Amino acid sequence: MDQQRDVTVFYDERVLAHYPDANVDFLPGRLDKRIRAILSGLTVQWKYPEHPGRISAIMDLLAREPISGVRIEPGRAATREELGRVHTTSFLDHLFSLRDQSTWLDVDTTAVAPGSVEAAEVAAGTAIAAVEAVVEGRTGSAFAVVRPPGHHAEPVRARGFCLFNNVAVAAAHAHAALGCKRVLILDWDAHHGNGTQDIFWSDPDTLFFDIHRAAPFYPGSGALTDIGAGRGEGATVNVPMPGGAGDVAYLKAMREILVPAADYFKPDLVLVSAGFDAHWFDLALNVTYDGFAAMTRIVQDIADKHCDGRLAMILEGGYNTESLARGVHATLHALAGGELTEPKVCGIEEVEAAIAFHKPAFEPDQPE
Ligand SMILES: [Zn+2]
Repeated sequence: MDQQRDVTVFYDERVLAHYPDANVDFLPGRLDKRIRAILSGLTVQWKYPEHPGRISAIMDLLAREPISGVRIEPGRAATREELGRVHTTSFLDHLFSLRDQSTWLDVDTTAVAPGSVEAAEVAAGTAIAAVEAVVEGRTGSAFAVVRPPGHHAEPVRARGFCLFNNVAVAAAHAHAALGCKRVLILDWDAHHGNGTQDIFWSDPDTLFFDIHRAAPFYPGSGALTDIGAGRGEGATVNVPMPGGAGDVAYLKAMREILVPAADYFKPDLVLVSAGFDAHWFDLALNVTYDGFAAMTRIVQDIADKHCDGRLAMILEGGYNTESLARGVHATLHALAGGELTEPKVCGIEEVEAAIAFHKPAFEPDQPE
């Protein structure tokens, strides 16, 4: 491809206001009973792993190393009606009642503090803004740099650092308000997108494709045989991976399962739950920056083939700030049409060079 393409990063600094860590000493109940015991065994001060520094690392790197073709636009807050397309009334009532409180929401250590609910509304609304921009043709592709992440949030509860399911809210908006008929969601975060799977489990018009580290890794869902139900049977595709799996395995899964699935489904919009915790700095899997870039090019090709390139990515996890920022940067570079390096099995070129170097020393002596 290697032809410059227009990419818009959607970013709203209100997402930085979600910071339960600042209030961790005041959090009641579970913290004392369960987490305090873990914290007491640590030699460093505990920090809420999903923190504002993740986003600043991404935006700082983009400012230091700008990418030609990439521009930045503000986001917006999602409305209650938009959130209500994928979350229940009782869940929204409960979360909105916590606007000024600091509390834990569930057993996964998901917490809120003042500012968190608004940050979550802005995260979901900014995902919508990204989708609107690509569907309305105002940008070639879009990337919503948001937090809290979304893909673990279920219709009825927050989970795994996620309050609202941003990608699901964006997909539902595309269906309900933008005239999209078939939305493909690829989730390449290291963790299974249990919330997104639940929301679209019986929906034949949303193809959910998730490649993730297999159970017993968090959250434990996403078995190969989980394919959706009812009218949605077949529209959920899970590819569980062993720990340590890297670029070559990921790219093979995408080329040999995702591409034919997309050819069959013919999406009119492609969304990506883009987490960067499959990089080895996050100790889950072994995807490199070249790997993220190559995966991006595959989904870009799918979007080009089926829907005039309509592709929006929404940030999910990634907790090492260096690999997160570099991973997003490599992804934006690929979205903008930059030149890519095809990933190989790590070390194979070096071994081939070493074979050529050493081999003569062990060859039988030729007769004189
Ligand atoms: Zn993750």
